[in-house]
Amino acid sequence: MDLSEKIRNVPDFPQPGIQFKDITTLLKDGKAFRVAIDRLVETYKDTPVDVVIGPEARGFVVGAPVAYVLGAGFVPIRKPGKLPAETISYGYTLEYGKNSLEIHKDAIEPGSKVLIVDDLLATGGTTMATIKMVEQLGGEIVGLAFLIELSFLNGRKVLEGYDITSLVKY
Ligand code: 5GP
Repeated sequence: MDLSEKIRNVPDFPQPGIQFKDITTLLKDGKAFRVAIDRLVETYKDTPVDVVIGPEARGFVVGAPVAYVLGAGFVPIRKPGKLPAETISYGYTLEYGKNSLEIHKDAIEPGSKVLIVDDLLATGGTTMATIKMVEQLGGEIVGLAFLIELSFLNGRKVLEGYDITSLVKY
């Protein structure tokens, strides 16, 4: 199945000039959603993974089923003020704007093997912020997995040295 056919391009969202890749059209298609998750899982089925980490909010939708199939835990990364217990945070620059993300301080056991999953890799800022927090807590990154990679934004360069998987590249 060609998953790129299931992704909708929305021009000028959320700002003029941005070609937004909308995955809701893929998610609402049961077969496509399953194929996407199966392909991500296939890549990491022989890699020991203790926890999958997904950034809010589309990282939850893609990351949680990957965690379930791998038999790994799921840890959310959220925008400031959303997580109830003690957190650490990290500020970064996004493709459009600035952001800060948080993780629970006790979410990662030192030495845990962590797979980061998100819907899309653009500049790599979100993923790098996530990596910084995971590594600060003593986790070991075993992979970075995305449905979509916007290759022209060079996120791979920012994330050099880490194992990266993406299913659809633009
Ligand atoms: P980065 O931090 O790599 O620049 O941007 C990636 C983050 O922004 C991801 O969490 C992703 O959900 C969101 N994002 C940026 N551009 C798009 C887009 O075109 N489509 C979708 N679905 N998410 C995007």
